[in-house]
Amino acid sequence: MLEVADISVAYGQHRALTDAALNVGRGEIVVILGANGAGKTSLLKAIAGIVACLPGKRVTLSGRDISALPAHEIVEAGLALVPEGRGIFADLTVAENLLLGANPKRARDGEAARRERVLSLFPRLGERLGQTVRTMSGGEQQMVAIGRALMSNPDVLLLDEPSLGLSPLLVRELFASLRKVRESGVGLLLVEQNARESLAIADRGYLIENGKITGSGTGTELMSNDAVQRAYLGGIVASAV
Ligand code: ATP
Repeated sequence: MLEVADISVAYGQHRALTDAALNVGRGEIVVILGANGAGKTSLLKAIAGIVACLPGKRVTLSGRDISALPAHEIVEAGLALVPEGRGIFADLTVAENLLLGANPKRARDGEAARRERVLSLFPRLGERLGQTVRTMSGGEQQMVAIGRALMSNPDVLLLDEPSLGLSPLLVRELFASLRKVRESGVGLLLVEQNARESLAIADRGYLIENGKITGSGTGTELMSNDAVQRAYLGGIVASAV
């Protein structure tokens, strides 16, 4: 559904990403693993049209070429980003954040049903519709961020380190919710440092090192890959994971 090729990003003289390519199918969870500074955030932002790319970028969504679209039209095309740090409106309530998420034209039909779906995915948000987001816990704020992105009726959701700062219990809850999102046919592209939990729910994944994609495989393959074991899983054998 989402196909990306030849994405290169430079910040001044610093090359952050070189010729990155990946794809995400309908209802598929794909994880990108990489160390700090490897280029993961740059990759998501480049796909979402938020950072400028070097010439050559190719992004197609459901067969439509969206490479040259500005960020807001990329959202209209069906791609939503939940940025690192969540990007929510902290001084607004949960209900207001969800309403803002439904602003794209593609989201206006079926808004009420979509809101019900988001509230059934994250029942806590339903109990807190009038609460100012700033006063919520980190886990709840992450639910608001994902809920708001889902309100835009995306075909593919990009998530930048959604588990950051959450307790192990909340990470598990969050990832269980992402599985449910996938069941609705939305494709998920997930940047994560939490390799163990994310590979457990991933259909496939990519490894990124120093701005280059250096490996890929199914979640199970990556879980038992030596480099992944050493770098992200503390060398524990896959059978014990
Ligand atoms: P992290 O996990 O630490 O967030 P990352 O894999 O998401 O890292 P990026 O944020 O994409 O990595 O950064 C890739 C490289 O580009 C890093 O060396 C970073 O310092 C650099 N970089 C990112 N944004 C900018 C910017 N706006 N200006 C200059 N350099 C940048």
